[in-house]
Amino acid sequence: DRMIEQRGYEKDASRRLFQHAKKFIPGGVTANIKHFAPYPIFMKKGYGSKLIDVDGVEYIDYSLCYGALMTGHGHPRIKEATLKQLDDSGTVIFGTPHELEVKMAEKLIALYPSMDQVRFTNSGTEAVLLAIRLAVAYTNKPKIGKFEGHYHGGLNQLLVSINPTQRDAGRPDQPEAVFESDGIVQSERENTIVLPFNDLEATEKLLRKHQDELAAVILEPVQGGFIPAEPQFIHGLRDLTNELGIVLIFDEVKTGFRVALGGAQSVYDVDPDITTLGKVLGGGFPIGAVGGHEEIMMQSAATAKSDVFSVGSDSHKTKNIVFHSGTYNGHPLVLAAGLETIRLLEDENELKSTFEKTMLLRKELEKLYETYHIKMQTIGMGSIFNLVFTDQTIRHYRDMWQADTSFRQAIDIELLKLGIYLKPLNRYSTSTAHTVEDIEKTVSLHERAIHRVLQ
Ligand code: PLP
Repeated sequence: DRMIEQRGYEKDASRRLFQHAKKFIPGGVTANIKHFAPYPIFMKKGYGSKLIDVDGVEYIDYSLCYGALMTGHGHPRIKEATLKQLDDSGTVIFGTPHELEVKMAEKLIALYPSMDQVRFTNSGTEAVLLAIRLAVAYTNKPKIGKFEGHYHGGLNQLLVSINPTQRDAGRPDQPEAVFESDGIVQSERENTIVLPFNDLEATEKLLRKHQDELAAVILEPVQGGFIPAEPQFIHGLRDLTNELGIVLIFDEVKTGFRVALGGAQSVYDVDPDITTLGKVLGGGFPIGAVGGHEEIMMQSAATAKSDVFSVGSDSHKTKNIVFHSGTYNGHPLVLAAGLETIRLLEDENELKSTFEKTMLLRKELEKLYETYHIKMQTIGMGSIFNLVFTDQTIRHYRDMWQADTSFRQAIDIELLKLGIYLKPLNRYSTSTAHTVEDIEKTVSLHERAIHRVLQ
């Protein structure tokens, strides 16, 4: 126990590395999400459910690379499949079509019946980029509707109202568009309409008002992976977008393979027109995918006429030709890792038992906080959940304003010191590698964190 008291975050190899990194990397991190105060932890090893930092301290990992690692760190079968691919092909990448692309596309279409065809990208952001380009081309309308609190990657047009403050957010039934980044020109901002999640009546009003300009509505069917769409809301949204000629895009980058093998769309039994995937799909390697109706997807089909790389090609377009390319698209090592990940998850017991363990953890944590008379609820779906310190019902982004985030932050910092890895205030993701023993340990470390914070 005394060992535990003195480990981890209080040692200082991470702090030293962070100070050094800040000289060469803006803010010391290569993605803003990796940063947290007082300093992020630098890791050097991972196995199963565990991460080991540069001081040699071990953590149970509930970040799992923001959900990308559904089978934990370094699963032997994923390692083997990746190395075998490298061995068999002798090269890292062909830069040509290859058979694994077809295998993965077939696999996704089997798991996601809303998809007729699939294209691969290198990230979720790129998948969303293609999805909205396809929708704009298909409808010949300029705007995209997105929901307050929903995140879709780094596209200029969608860096809007992801995390607005109470002061800036405007009316609940007609949210202000709050911009999350400088460096975005006004013309890009004008093509985004912010919608209120889980409020069908207000959403309907806005969609009808803007129906002639709206190419698509994009949403996370489970916001942030932990606030589920209400069934009548998501079904209503499907009916409305069908009626108004608006493309419905489910961004399942987080929820794909994590709330069910077939994503949230299989849980709700709703077919979007386009789905974006990423994270788990690459088995830890960078990937994104876009799948959807043939008519929409075929706009990106390459033909001799659409080849923008042929200098002087005299293409007179008879139908929409949507540009989509990428040096690394369909990377064989990524697809080998991703296919093996899906094979592992297709064993029914794997996801089922992960979901059961996740629920056990949620219930045990709720019981624990209740013992200390601390108002805390867990919300989520499948292998993702969040700890929210309020007894108010959480239905949409604005309800999160009720939560006590400073208490949560204090608990999270203590947990880092005690050996639980999660970026403070982030959601929890679990994996097939997390054991009942991990869960028991997590609950007991929460109890110690509560003691320390309440001291
Ligand atoms: N869409 C959703 C729902 C996401 O959660 C994310 C990443 O967290 C993205 C898109 C962007 O994916 P990437 O980080 O791979 O670009």
